Amino acid sequence: MDQVKKGKLFVISGPSGVGKGTLVNLLRTKYPEIIISTSVTTRNPRPGELSGIHYFFIKKEDFLFRINQGNFLEWTEFAGNYYGTDKNIVELTIEQGHNLLLEIDVKGALQVKKHKSDAILIFIEPPSIEELKSRLFKRETESEQEIYERLSIVKSEIDKKTEFNYCLLNDKLDRAFSDLESIVLKEINATESCK
Ligand code: 5GP
Repeated sequence: MDQVKKGKLFVISGPSGVGKGTLVNLLRTKYPEIIISTSVTTRNPRPGELSGIHYFFIKKEDFLFRINQGNFLEWTEFAGNYYGTDKNIVELTIEQGHNLLLEIDVKGALQVKKHKSDAILIFIEPPSIEELKSRLFKRETESEQEIYERLSIVKSEIDKKTEFNYCLLNDKLDRAFSDLESIVLKEINATESCK
């Protein structure tokens, strides 16, 4: 019997406010067959966010319990909240031949690379830290203190971009999306090399 060809695992990462979510949403609309992972988090839902759609919102003690159970492929503490990716869902999705995309922070992306060396890591870079700051203030989803907390780690996040397979600049949304689309399609259509 033919074996199902495994799906590809994409990890999109980069500083908070860089536009990862917007790029992923464009990809989701154009390629609904690519599955976007829903993370688990302890952060409070923002207005309009729904559990099971934007995140699975859970209590901190439940998150800590799940860490102990080894439920996460990766997890991180980011700006005072926990975020994680369910290991079984990732395994099952890929095994069934679906291409899966994670939109996660830089620390989490590097954890994924450690466990899954064939994951395709894509770093989204901001045009400048000033531009990032202005985007974070404009979107009005975090308090001033939370914005500065998110900005305080940007330099260290950008320093890690060399550990990613691809790096793309989000200065113009159209261009960044077309770059992302080319990378994703190239990787999905790549034939396995003979080993
Ligand atoms: P936000 O609170 O703005 O939704 O997310 C904050 C940061 O956490 C973003 O950089 C987002 O990509 C990241 N993030 C969301 N889900 C996960 C996850 O499951 N794991 C990790 N490591 N980061 C995540």
